[in-house]
Order: sequence, then C-alpha cells, then structure tokens
Amino acid sequence: MAGRDKAAEQLKEFKKTQVKEDVLTTGTGAPVGLKTATMTVGPRGPVLLQDFVFTDEMAHFNRERIPERVVHAKGAGAFGYFECTHDITKYTKAKPFEFVGKKTPLAVRFSTVGGESGSADTARDPRGFAVKMYTEEGNWDIVGNNTPIFFIRDPMLFPSFIHTQKRNPQTHLKDPDMFWDFITLRPETTHQVSFLFSDRGTPDGYRRMNGYGSHTFKLVNKEGKPVYCKFHWKCDQGIKNLMSDEAAQLATDDPDYAIRDLYNHISEGDFPSWSLKIQVMTFEEAEKFRYNPFDLTKIWPQGEFPLLPVGRMVLNRNPKNYFAEVEQIAFSPVHMIPGVEASPDKMLQGRLFSYSDTHRHRLGSNYLQIPVNCPFNARTKNYQRDGPQCVDENQGGAPNYFPNSFSGPVDNPSNLESEFSISGDVKRYNTADEDNYSQVGVFWRKVLKPAERQRLVENIAGHAINASDFLQKRVVKNFSQADPEYGRAIQEKLDQLKAQRKAKSGVSAQL
Ligand code: NDP
Repeated sequence: MAGRDKAAEQLKEFKKTQVKEDVLTTGTGAPVGLKTATMTVGPRGPVLLQDFVFTDEMAHFNRERIPERVVHAKGAGAFGYFECTHDITKYTKAKPFEFVGKKTPLAVRFSTVGGESGSADTARDPRGFAVKMYTEEGNWDIVGNNTPIFFIRDPMLFPSFIHTQKRNPQTHLKDPDMFWDFITLRPETTHQVSFLFSDRGTPDGYRRMNGYGSHTFKLVNKEGKPVYCKFHWKCDQGIKNLMSDEAAQLATDDPDYAIRDLYNHISEGDFPSWSLKIQVMTFEEAEKFRYNPFDLTKIWPQGEFPLLPVGRMVLNRNPKNYFAEVEQIAFSPVHMIPGVEASPDKMLQGRLFSYSDTHRHRLGSNYLQIPVNCPFNARTKNYQRDGPQCVDENQGGAPNYFPNSFSGPVDNPSNLESEFSISGDVKRYNTADEDNYSQVGVFWRKVLKPAERQRLVENIAGHAINASDFLQKRVVKNFSQADPEYGRAIQEKLDQLKAQRKAKSGVSAQL
C-alpha cells in the first residue's frame, strides 16, 4: 500500500482550505456549546431527553446507511468531460456529438459486481463502467462493463445468475457448486466466463481497462433515420491486468487498491482518458447478420463492423464527497436522450426496467433531484410532484396536470422517438440451445496467445476444483464444445490439481 500519498493527505488538504474553523451546529443550524458531553442530571447521569445535541446526532447516525446496491456495491467515482473529436451527425442527433470540439460534462462510476461494499477491489469479477453525460437534452447514461458481452441473454435469468455469485443461503459463504452448476446448465455463459477467467478478469485498477456499452443500441439522426450501434471506450493508458497471485496479494494488502489508484492519479493531475469508438450496423445488415445482433453474449466482429472514432472522455475531478456523489449516483440504461434509443436486446429491455426501479428503492422516488443525478444542463419541467425527500422547489406554482390552459410545459412532435415495425408470435422463447460456442472458439484459438490460454485454463481449473466432481465433468464438457483442446487442457489441469491435493492430504495424514 502506498505511504503518504494524495489520498492519505486528504484531511491536511482540507485543512488548508479553511480560513478558520466553522461554528459547530445541530442539524437545525443551532450553535453547539459542548460536543463531548451529554446533558445529565449530575455527573453520573441519567441523560435528559431534551438534549437535542445528542438525540439529533444519534438519530441521524442510526440512519446513515442506505441499502447497498444488490450488484456493483463496491465502486469508485470521478468527474470530467467528453469531447467530440469526429463528426457522426450522419448517424445521430445526440447532443454530445453535435459538433467536433463540443465538450459535455460527465460522471463515471467504476465498480466490481458481485462483492459487498467492503469486498476487495482486485477480486476476479467483471468491472462496471458507467458513464453519465449531463447534456442540454437531459442526462444520458451508458451503463456498461469492461467486457463487450455478458453471461446471459435473457433477463429472466438475471436474479438467479447473481445469486450464484453471492452467498449460499445457509452457510453464507461463496459456493463453487452454485457457481459452476448454473454456468454449466446455461452454456450461453461460456463466452463471458472465458473472459472472466482470462487476464482481463483482474484488471490493474480502473484506469487500465476498456469499457463497453455492451448492448446494441439505436442511433437516430436529425432525419429520423436509425442505425444499430455498439459503444467501445478504449483505454488510453493501455490495458494492464494483474496476475492471479498479485490480485490475491492485493486483496489482503490493499483491498481498496482500485479506488486509491484512481483517486491518487486524478489528484496528481495525471488524468485518465478513454477514446470512444462505435460500431455501426444498418437495419439491412442486421437482417442478414449470421448472429442475432441483439444477443448480449456475442460481439460484432470488428473486421466486419469496424470501430469508428468519435471522441474522448477525460476524468479530471475526484468526488468532493463520496456518499453524496458516488454512493448516491444513480445510473440507468433507460436514461437516454434524443438520438439514442433502445434496441430489441432482451437484456437491455430488462435493464431498462430494473435500474430505475432499484434506485427508487435505494434512494427514493425523487432520486433524480439528488444533485449528482439532477439533469443540471437541462431543466426538468413536467407534471411529477411531491413524494418523499422532495428537495427542490417542486416546480412552484406551475400547473400539475396536463393538458392545461395555464402555460404548463408542452410536448413537441420533433422530440418523438423513431418509428419501427415489428411482428412475431408472442411466447417465451427458450434460448439455451442457440449458438453458444462459436465465438468462444475464435477467442480461444485466434485472440489468446499460448501463455494467456494457459493462465485461462489454470484460473478455471483452480476455481472449478472446489466444485463437486459431477460439476467438474460438466465444466470440461462445456468448454470442450468451444474447442476440444480448451476442454482437454482444463481436464488435464484438474487432474494435476487433484493429484497435488491427494499427495498433500497424504503427507498431512502421515504427520
Ligand atoms: P478481432 O481480432 O478484430 O478483435 C479481437 C478483439 O479481442 C480485440 O480487438 C480486442 O478487443 C480483444 N482482445 C484482444 N486480446 C484480448 C484478450 N487477451 N482478452 C480479451 N479480449 C481480447 O476479432 P473479432 O472482432 O472478430 O473478435 C474475435 C473474438 O475476440 C470474439 O469472438 C471475442 O471473443 C473477442 N473480442 C471481440 C471484441 C469485439 O468487440 N469484436 C472485443 C473483445 C473481445 P478490444 O480492443 O476491445 O480490447
């Protein structure tokens, strides 16, 4: 762990900003005479109920925690801007891309996914990569990960999938049987599991990884013409990963490694940046594409859909207060602006509901009034009123119903979403047997170097060895279908580990 770095010096830095100490007050602003003692009858107590200095402090302390996020509980945030460097107005009218050179303020939150808010930053896990741009037409969130794909393609499976990453309901322990049972019963997970156990599963902090919007979105231009699109944030610092043993060591030596790294680099003026690129697919191309272009377990090959440069994101400010600006920041894929729309991607459709829903639970129905979530570059004018923790002027005396004859805010057809037609039979489509392996095979054979393949196999076997024997068999069978050599290498490593364990238990039995 670093010594007296910028993060360690934070309180001294704060002190330098104070001309003199402020007067201490209660929550109501009343000045406090003595902060170190309750008001008592005699020196030995009891305490008087009228002691508001105490009850005000204690009651607030009792309510300090809000529910932690069910996923992405541990994270770091930062602020900065997006600068448009290339003209993509032929694809979209979205405000951040209005003209080359335009800058849009933004906030970012990086996170791990499965662990609790006190868990280690270096755990093997995907990383959340969520960006909120404060545009003149509202806030736009690209709520992605550091991987271009995800484990599942149907949101019905999401709660179950996440449960397998969390704790056993009885033992309250992480459970390798739960994990590998689900993974091998749902082979669409094979692609993302291969990313997870590769070197990129343990990135060296948040500055050294790519981000991806992951889903397919629609871009819509001024003429209302849509194309499909994927977003890629390419890390300008260069990708750097931790080896498994380094990640494990850091989990004990400095569990907050990634938060510290981001904070210190920004404090020192070494601002991290990412280049935004897009892949574009026309509706005609989508019809003919050999894969389902809305399947979140698949990528669009870059040879066929090349990355087009768009702009650059720079992070140049740390949060002034973690709780206010990071714990309370609320991203949702449904926070879109004119020029960006949803695709049929089932996972995206599920997330369009669930993110805002969870924020209403965590932060309350007025979560969009919280300063970090408030669309400060646009102005909220609507017919929503009241609710818990309404902290702005609640739209004053403006009419609270629509339509009205009293100059309340009006809609305008120029802001309509693009039209599209769709047809199909309504039913629950089981996607378990869709192509689950072909892109994994390409990843194994063509993308990974031999040493990377070896580490991938070691990481999978090192984890799966803790699962039941019948699950280990299913693991081998599953990865063999991506490439026979992939499965064979995992089997070989599992056999080796088993032999080692057996030898070790034999030695300890003799002692
Ligand atoms: P390309 O050869 O054009 O692209 C391969 C991509 O793989 C690279 O651009 C890079 O994406 C990513 N990559 C490189 N090294 C690693 C690594 N060690 N671990 C994880 N990803 C790595 O081929 P295709 O686009 O046809 O994709 C081939 C396979 O590559 C896919 O099946 C998929 O498994 C994997 N992949 C593809 C991505 C895509 O968006 N097309 C993105 C990531 C992986 P990047 O520059 O984004 O890091």
